[in-house]
Amino acid sequence: MAIQLDETHDAQRKSWIASANGHGVFPIQNLPLGIFSINGDTPRGGVAIGDEVFDLKAACEAKLFSGDAEKAARAASNNTLNDLMAMGGGPRAALRKQLSALLAEGTVESKKAQPLAAKLLHKASACTLHLPAKIGAFTDFFAGITHAENGGKRRGSNPPLSPNYKYVPVAYHSRASTVRPTGVEVRRPNGQRVVDGEKLPTFGPCLKMDFELEFGVWIGQGNAWGEPIPTGKAADHIFGYCMLNDWSARDIQRWESQPLGPFLSKNLGTTISPWIITPEALAPFQIAQPPRPEGDPKPLPYLWDDKDQREGQFDLELEVLIRTEAMRAKGLPPQRIAVSNTKHLYWTVAQMVAHHTCGGCSLEPGDIFGSGTISGPTPENYGSIAELTYDGTRDITLASGEIRRWVNDGDDIYLRAHGKRAGCVPIGFGDCCGRMVAGKPA
Ligand code: MN
Repeated sequence: MAIQLDETHDAQRKSWIASANGHGVFPIQNLPLGIFSINGDTPRGGVAIGDEVFDLKAACEAKLFSGDAEKAARAASNNTLNDLMAMGGGPRAALRKQLSALLAEGTVESKKAQPLAAKLLHKASACTLHLPAKIGAFTDFFAGITHAENGGKRRGSNPPLSPNYKYVPVAYHSRASTVRPTGVEVRRPNGQRVVDGEKLPTFGPCLKMDFELEFGVWIGQGNAWGEPIPTGKAADHIFGYCMLNDWSARDIQRWESQPLGPFLSKNLGTTISPWIITPEALAPFQIAQPPRPEGDPKPLPYLWDDKDQREGQFDLELEVLIRTEAMRAKGLPPQRIAVSNTKHLYWTVAQMVAHHTCGGCSLEPGDIFGSGTISGPTPENYGSIAELTYDGTRDITLASGEIRRWVNDGDDIYLRAHGKRAGCVPIGFGDCCGRMVAGKPA
């Protein structure tokens, strides 16, 4: 799994695209892949670089790539990245190397690309970002142990964690058809729920709307039905990462979830950051899986891989911000309401892949995982509003003077992620913002 740092990570490497240098999110060391269109034309593969989108189809037509990188860029010229995802990691890494050389300042390759800038680059602000893949299946894990404990406490479970939690990377099959990229409004659902103070359910709008701060995983190369992926081989099947807001209707969830788990409370919509951050870009931010607390069981052998334990987790700073309609009207910026880190996950992504497939389930290119809500140990680390407000019993006071206990209509919820490490150029994941809007009348 260890990806060697190479010239594409070199902190001294600058781009001839001025906005990329010191960008903080999309410097030349990041090079995330996505699907964009401009002025309503055909969606195709692109790469975020500074304030621009680099057009992979135009670059193919200009014959800027060779070998595996050319195969990858050609596959990425379609309106989804599924074909590129199916190719495995080699072509993706080759593409990164050639892209980095083309976009770097002062390289031989840049002399071919720079004169074609007008054809190759589009202002990101003028582009529409689409889902990067046709998503076949969406699985949502539950690997944020503090979130799991906080939920158990709110439900009055003692102990708060289920007896299986430290053995099984718990998950459920969620809904692929309602995943949307940043910027798409999400409609408040109607459903059955028992309103506070009442005994019987009624049908109507969700009254306890929540967000969930999750790390998203894009599956690349699939596995055959009946052929599990071992923990130590999982990296070969991971195409990249995004941020994922698993919108959650808590009142509907509370009533419907016995005994099969959440259904309508989770299928109303999921917001993702549409740029895929590659494993190569995240290599500088790989860390060991933090040791389990004293007394916790060692994972069963099929979930254990020494190398995965040494380098299978990430150190990524995560944030949740809110911006209400009134805040927008007053010109107030988004306000941070939580900070967390991927290192608080109890399971690694490789363990999730291994568990998902250990019974023979096949994964396919373009499948997506959510990690589960990533809350950290202290209240400012809580990655859902149910945790931040103790199930709607405490106020969050905003700079506008407004109070929130749940997500209101008109609220924008932003998730952000950044990798930072001494000696490395920091990178980010880009926007993951969804606005909750009023639902249809019940
Ligand atoms: Mn979730």
